[in-house]
Amino acid sequence: MAKQEDLFKKIIAHAKEYGFVFPSSEIYDGLSAVYDYGPNGVELKKNIRDFWWKSMVQMHENIVGIDAAIFMHPTVWKASGHVDAFSDPLIDNKDSKKRYRADVLVEDYLSKIETKINKEIAKARKRFGDSFDEKQFRETNPRVVANIAKSEEIKERLYSSLEKEDMAAVKQLIEDLEIADPVSGSKNWTDVRQFNLMFNTQMGSTSDGAMEIFLRPETAQGIFVNYLNVQKTGRMKIPFGIAQTGKAFRNEIVARQFIFRMREFEQMEMQFFVRPGTEMKWFSYWKEQRLKWHLSTGIPEEKYRFHDHEKLAHYANAATDIEFEFPIGFKELEGIHSRTNFDLSAHEKFSGKKLRYFDSEINESYVPNVVETSIGLDRMFLAVLSHSYTEEKLNDGSERVVMKLPPFLAPTKLAVFPLTKKDGLPEKAREIMDKVKMDFMCFYEEKDTIGKRYRRHDAIGTPYCITIDHQTLQDNTVTIRERDTMEQIRIPVNKIHDIVSERLKVVY
Ligand code: ATP
Repeated sequence: MAKQEDLFKKIIAHAKEYGFVFPSSEIYDGLSAVYDYGPNGVELKKNIRDFWWKSMVQMHENIVGIDAAIFMHPTVWKASGHVDAFSDPLIDNKDSKKRYRADVLVEDYLSKIETKINKEIAKARKRFGDSFDEKQFRETNPRVVANIAKSEEIKERLYSSLEKEDMAAVKQLIEDLEIADPVSGSKNWTDVRQFNLMFNTQMGSTSDGAMEIFLRPETAQGIFVNYLNVQKTGRMKIPFGIAQTGKAFRNEIVARQFIFRMREFEQMEMQFFVRPGTEMKWFSYWKEQRLKWHLSTGIPEEKYRFHDHEKLAHYANAATDIEFEFPIGFKELEGIHSRTNFDLSAHEKFSGKKLRYFDSEINESYVPNVVETSIGLDRMFLAVLSHSYTEEKLNDGSERVVMKLPPFLAPTKLAVFPLTKKDGLPEKAREIMDKVKMDFMCFYEEKDTIGKRYRRHDAIGTPYCITIDHQTLQDNTVTIRERDTMEQIRIPVNKIHDIVSERLKVVY
């Protein structure tokens, strides 16, 4: 674990040093859980967003996009349930003054029990070899049986208390388990209270009677309230989807994991409207499609896993998370939810407007069911960045850090280096770059040795570098160097475009 934490720290430092991600307002010591994207970060983020958009809107004839405003009528959040229920249980430690999510403290305790169980199993597997039967071992080993029972009992207490919003029972559970503050070791806790995660602000001047409005905590509601506008104007036939990317805001209680959990972040969401009764088929379809999207980046399958929800939100009839193995462990990257017709029905009720669809195939009018896919752009950015970060020892004994980014996502696709600053080489280099820079992002560099320039571009994941030298002036050839193999070959200038474009192709 320490090694993984170390790696995480290195990635954060690298992201800053190479202009991917900066702490917000850094000259004022930053703002907690808020980050800014630098010149390389903004390109990588845009490329991920474009790839998502293409896979949804361009590749599906029945999915269209919208861009709804961040501010919405306050009743939207009443109808969606966010005003009443979008909260986390919060607890403070009186000695350390640190704040925690009470449910996370208990879940951390549970994962310690899980680790103990797994250790017992690993030990037994080693001892019994091929004849080891894990199921039987789980059912018969007294220590494992006791730990499983303990864990089930804790889960039952936690989830039923949360469901009943019985915060005193959550506190009692923390006390009964003797959970201590992980920082100070103190068990001196405040009561647990519910904390709503929505940010609010005022719209209009106070003399007008300002209205309290919220910064949206998810982009999905912008899609629901526009569902009929889009369906009618686009003459969309069910099943159809609406996609949107945009900022969302949550006043997260604990936000200490870099861009994994931020207070201002970006979501990429798609709501797919279907005939009631067909939602399970579409839920499976979108599970499969979304995993396929992830794998088409070239990131291997073992970095991903599905986590099907056992306990469903009251409005859902199926839900799964796509988890990714971040340096901080397997964590949620994307959610796929079958939300029944909960949201549209709630908006019908609160707005008094009919949000029905007339299905001419079955001659029936109904409120459609919705299957949604919801992914955090920043989390996807972190997934790609952390997977790509590679430290390599080279044959000559030197070391390099190379970002093995999927080439089509890399901020710069081609770096263009004149060997020297004189003899007409810079002019020739710019002439070559001008011919391709409309098609992909290029970067011109003439400072430092070629070796140093290569290292800088390795560190930001540029798939190709070309060097323009004196021979280029004679025979119109350049040296092209590939990022991962570091192989260098001489090619005619008119081949550059094809070679780079070939590498940027993605199969989805
Ligand atoms: P978590 O359990 O991690 O808080 P969630 O279940 O509340 O996430 P959803 O409401 O399903 O998340 O939001 C959809 C996606 O938005 C998540 O899968 C995640 O990628 C992203 N997301 C949610 N909260 C944050 C955040 N605070 N910072 C960055 N991304 C987030």
